[in-house]
Amino acid sequence: MTTYSEFHRRSVGERDAFWRDEAKLIDWETPFSDVLDYSRPPFAKWFVGGRTNICHNAIDRHLASRGEQTALIYISTETGQQRSYTYRELAAEVNRFAAMLKAQGAGRGDRVLIYMPMVAEAMFAMLACARIGAIHSVVFGGFAAASLATRIDDARPKVMVTSDAGMRGGKPVPYKHLVDESIRLAQYPPAKVIIVNRGLDAAMNIVAGRDLDYATLRTQHMDALVPCEWMESSEPSYILYTSGTTGKPKGVQRDTGGYAVALASSMRRIFCVEPGETMFTTSDIGWVVGHSYIVYGPLINGSTTIMYEGLPIRPDPGIWWKIVAEHKVKTMFSSPTAIRVLKKQDTAYMKAHDLSTLKYVFLAGEPLDEPTARWASDSLGVAIVDNYWQTETGWPILSAQLGVQETPRKFGSPSFPVYGYDVRLLHEGTGKEVGANEKGVLVIKPPMPPGCMTTVWGDDDRFVKTYFSDFPQDWAYSTFDWATRDAEGYYFVLGRTDDVINVAGHRLGTREIEEAVQAHAGIAEVAVVGVADALKGQIPVAFAVVKDAATVATPEGVAKMRKEVMDTVDRQLGAIGRPGAVHFVTVLPKTRSGKLLRRSIQALAEGRDPGDLTTIEDPAALEQIRIALAGK
Ligand code: AMP
Repeated sequence: MTTYSEFHRRSVGERDAFWRDEAKLIDWETPFSDVLDYSRPPFAKWFVGGRTNICHNAIDRHLASRGEQTALIYISTETGQQRSYTYRELAAEVNRFAAMLKAQGAGRGDRVLIYMPMVAEAMFAMLACARIGAIHSVVFGGFAAASLATRIDDARPKVMVTSDAGMRGGKPVPYKHLVDESIRLAQYPPAKVIIVNRGLDAAMNIVAGRDLDYATLRTQHMDALVPCEWMESSEPSYILYTSGTTGKPKGVQRDTGGYAVALASSMRRIFCVEPGETMFTTSDIGWVVGHSYIVYGPLINGSTTIMYEGLPIRPDPGIWWKIVAEHKVKTMFSSPTAIRVLKKQDTAYMKAHDLSTLKYVFLAGEPLDEPTARWASDSLGVAIVDNYWQTETGWPILSAQLGVQETPRKFGSPSFPVYGYDVRLLHEGTGKEVGANEKGVLVIKPPMPPGCMTTVWGDDDRFVKTYFSDFPQDWAYSTFDWATRDAEGYYFVLGRTDDVINVAGHRLGTREIEEAVQAHAGIAEVAVVGVADALKGQIPVAFAVVKDAATVATPEGVAKMRKEVMDTVDRQLGAIGRPGAVHFVTVLPKTRSGKLLRRSIQALAEGRDPGDLTTIEDPAALEQIRIALAGK
């Protein structure tokens, strides 16, 4: 039996041999010649010359042995729908979708933007793109038209796929309407839009010649068989946008072969799911967790995946546990925020269901606080596995790897570096490695393992400058997270080093929210900071300076302006970026060189000491923040 440390040591010390073995977990149409080409650091090319296809690995290769096994269980508590697809049925749907895309002129290397609620067709669309070698860009449905337009212009998709509407808490949420608006705003709009009409928005507008009905196209391509496009391992499989410190989101670009290998491998070694077993990941396909562990990971592994549209507490707080019991889920993957929501409910909802098949609950996306981890562990009696990663990496960086060795977990810690990742903690100033229990920046010594981002879409320079410039004395990929490591090697993630905040497990750039607020013509300046929140981890709070003081001179004026600011954010960025509170001040605290003192503002908002203020330009500005927070 291999130990974790031996496994990890080999993954880094005998890298090529290690990954050559792991690469056997997927099918290759043409074998690779070299495991890694690292001749142009920090760009890593895995499995050089190998040709494969993610859709083939996720579907076709299973047809002979598990064609009649359930591949996908789709459950919507919003529409009351439940449908299951065997691998064979999924193959048929994906072939139809692939044929539709091809008929619209999308092929290898073309971009397809998917802006969809949690419907099975969204998964068909993703797999269909993979099949024909088109690069998908899935945009989370919570993003507004202006954000969508930015992503359209960056990726320049040939085709967009959308739905009339999603449903949340029983209410339809328009999608197509936002797509129309985003196309109006975009410089490089797609020629065609395929619409999965769920019959939820009777007022949906159809643009003749551009908009196409999915159901009609599906009938036309009912018996289509579209061969898989064999992709060189490094060819992009998808783009997924994520926030950073600038207002412009980055397109995280992922390869084909490395990603497929990382997922196949992690399904066994981290998530402990065997082919034929069921995994239930509660994320959304718009996030990286959804890409990796709702769609691709479970299918590549020959497992059954559950796709769920709905809230964790509707129709009642037992819904997820009912799903676990009914579908014999072995591994669940969710977020700390979701568990904090469930923790507030009566455990009778959980106890009413037979959870004997459930063995693991993986939680990621934000810090997992000890009380939440303890509650989940005590009430479920299964392994609670905190795992830490990023959109950029595509799979965990830190986690217990229980498929390798049953190591004990410590509450509050995502355990150890995952195999393939050479993790270091560096001192912010000296760049030297810190000692036990000392705080450092969590970095990965490149080459980054298979599955990680290969570049920023269309901008190699930005990739290098963003991630590899913090420690110029030595190549190091910065995660922009602080962490410590205890004497036993357990890591503890402490939070971001940059101005990125984490709301309910979703990353948001404060700059992005500030730009959205500033779209309001009455706002002169604004600072947005993340403030600790018991449920969501953090919430954005805005401190704004208005152009005309008269607009906020009365309580009614303040209330009106607040609402307008929030509505503006909803429109520009989406409700996920909406500030929890908007305060008005006449001046923002800045350094003498004009840099916003966000950390001091944040400290005050959390009731902490604002720290070193020797460089502040106008101390009265902080006093205003204090007064605004006190509601005076
Ligand atoms: P995203 O790319 O949106 O998934 O956000 C990634 C960021 O979320 C990381 O850089 C961390 O700041 C945070 N994060 C993710 N997982 C964890 C975890 N298990 N513990 C603490 N922070 C986490």
